[in-house]
Amino acid sequence: MSEFDLIRAHFAHLGAGRDDVVLGVGDDCALLRVPAGKELAVSIDTLVAGVHFLPSVDPEALGHKCLAVGLSDLAAMGAEPAWATLALTLPREDPRWLGAFAAGFAALAREHGLALVGGDTTHGPLSISVQVHGLVPAGQAIRRAGALPGDLVGVSGTLGDAGLALRHLLAGEAVAADSRARLERPTPRVALGLALRGLATAMIDISDGLAADLGHILEESGAASAGGEGRGGGPSSANLAAENLTLASLGDGNRKPPTLRKGSGNPPRLGKGIGNAVSQGYRQLGSGGEAPVLGAEIRLAALPLSPAVSSRLARDADWSLPLASGDDYELCFTLPPERASELPALAERLGLDLTLIGRILPDAGLVCIGPDGGRWTPEQRGYNHFPDAG
Ligand code: ADP
Ligand code: MG
Repeated sequence: MSEFDLIRAHFAHLGAGRDDVVLGVGDDCALLRVPAGKELAVSIDTLVAGVHFLPSVDPEALGHKCLAVGLSDLAAMGAEPAWATLALTLPREDPRWLGAFAAGFAALAREHGLALVGGDTTHGPLSISVQVHGLVPAGQAIRRAGALPGDLVGVSGTLGDAGLALRHLLAGEAVAADSRARLERPTPRVALGLALRGLATAMIDISDGLAADLGHILEESGAASAGGEGRGGGPSSANLAAENLTLASLGDGNRKPPTLRKGSGNPPRLGKGIGNAVSQGYRQLGSGGEAPVLGAEIRLAALPLSPAVSSRLARDADWSLPLASGDDYELCFTLPPERASELPALAERLGLDLTLIGRILPDAGLVCIGPDGGRWTPEQRGYNHFPDAG
C-alpha cells in the first residue's frame, strides 16, 4: 500500500461529518468555514514516545489520548470542538497499529462532533502532533487571566489518579483498570468548559499538576489586572474606557487620552480613584521587571480524591500526587463567591463532581493548608520535560 493509500484508508472521513468542512483530507489544504460571530480557538500538542507515553502503550488508547489532550485545551477556553489536523511520525508502516490508533482517535472525535480535516505523515521515531480547532462566540472564551482576589477556586473530577497509575507502571506493579484508564484514556471536560462560559472568571486544564496550572492562572490574572485588562475591580479596560468618555465629553482637546504602557515615565492623569489604581499598576509593572502575581489558598482536605489516591495519601502523606503529578485533564476554574451556588445544579446536570478547594488572594504565592491546619509547600511544581534546561 502506498503512503497515500494508507492515509486515505485510515484518515479520510475520520470523525464527525460537518457542514462547515468545505474540503477535508486529500488536497493541499483543508477548507473550513468559520461562522460569523465566532472566534477560532486553536491549540497544538505533541506526544513523543518515551517522553509522554510508554512505547508499549495500546495504540487505540494512544489515538484517544492524542486527541483528548487537545480537546482538554478547547474545554479550558470554553470552545466547542470542530476540526483537527494530525501529524504522525511513524518508525514503520504497520497497518494494524495504524488501524487501532485511528479507531481510538475516531471514536473520541465522533463523540465530540469533531472532523479530522488533514495532516502529515512522515517516517522517524514515533511522535504524534494533533492540532485542534474549536469555535467560541466572539469575546466569550474563558482565559487564564480574569481571576480576582476573593474569587473561589474550583476543580472537576478527582486529582492524582493518572499520576498514581504512572507510579505503579514505572515500578512494574499491577495497576487497576480504572486507574490505568485515567492515565491512558483521559476524559476531556468539554461540556463543563462550555457550561462555564459566563460563569468562570478564569480557567485552565490541569495537565502538569494543580499547583503548576493554578500558578498559571495566578500569573496571568495578576499581570492582567495590573496591566489594565482585568475583570472589574482594578484598573480594568472597561473603567478606562468610561474614563476616556468622561474626558472626551469634557471637551478638553489638550488632554491626551490615557494609554497604559509598560514602564512609561508619566502615568496619565485620571479621576482620583482610577488614577491611583492605574499608577499602582504602573509601579508594579515598572519595578523589578516581573509581572505582579496573585496568590491562592488551597485546602488540601477539600481536594477531590478517588479512593485509590486517598488510601495512598493515608499511607505516605505525599501531597505531590494530587498537586503536582501530570495528566489529570480536569478543569481548574475561578468564579465570584456569589455565584458558587450555581455549581451543584451544574454538577448534577453534567454528572461530574465539581469541588471548591480554595480562593484567590491578593498577594503572590500558593498557600496549601494541610488537614491538620499546617502549611504544606509542594517540592515539585509539576512535570518538567527539560529539568536541566534551567
Ligand atoms: P502535501 O505533500 O501536499 O502536504 P501529503 O501527501 O502530505 O500532501 O498529504 C495528502 C493529503 O493527506 C493532505 O490533504 C493531508 O492533509 C492528508 N494527510 C496526510 N497525512 C495525514 C494524517 N496523518 N492524517 C490526516 N490527514 C493526513
Ligand atoms: Mg505533507
